[in-house]
Amino acid sequence: MVPILLLGVPGAGKGTQAKRLVARYHIPHLSTGDMLREIETSGSAQGVQIGHDMHQGNLVPDTVVCQVVGKRLQRPDCRNGYILDGFPRTLPQAEWLIGFLHNGASFRPAGPIIVVYLTVGYNDLYRRLLGRRSCPECGRIYNDFTQPPRQAGVCDLDQTALVQRHDDDPAVIRERLSAYEERTLPLVQFFRSHGQLLEINGAEPVNRVSERMFAAIDPFIAVPACPPTGGGQ
Ligand SMILES: [Zn+2]
Repeated sequence: MVPILLLGVPGAGKGTQAKRLVARYHIPHLSTGDMLREIETSGSAQGVQIGHDMHQGNLVPDTVVCQVVGKRLQRPDCRNGYILDGFPRTLPQAEWLIGFLHNGASFRPAGPIIVVYLTVGYNDLYRRLLGRRSCPECGRIYNDFTQPPRQAGVCDLDQTALVQRHDDDPAVIRERLSAYEERTLPLVQFFRSHGQLLEINGAEPVNRVSERMFAAIDPFIAVPACPPTGGGQ
């Protein structure tokens, strides 16, 4: 059983690569956002508090997030491992996770925790986020630089004019990137000594990134006999 953590700035391709990890290793993809929303909709006192924090734009406290994640990691589908996305986000969360895996968890890792750090140079990333367009009709995502539609500015499927999301606006992007770096570099440092840190260049084409990621992870995980071919794109 091997847990995989995904670290990387917004736009580094974590979502796409997470799907491919699920397909290859047959382990669940756990996002903290999904877990918190699940508790929120449960109607429990804790759910009400979490909902309040999220809607106020407050950070849910580390102790609460850790408790929620800890509970989720005890479910039977985590027996063979899992992909953690969006957690840990702070050093205290990272320290908690290492302690939990060694002492509290029902399913303990056979080896070091694998941390995939998708890196993308600032300029590439900026360009990539700036180029993002989506179709308001069908929700399909395009990118002027990496995944352009056949006809500029128009959805391939339904010919609707593509739009840019508000948080893909240049000033918002710059702010998000620097906030992310400030928060993530200490985690990268931490996992250099408390895990198997795999630095993967996320600026390459999506398929190349997946190949490099699998080649780096395979030695730590027994790949099922008949892996399905990677989905999408
Ligand atoms: Zn469309």
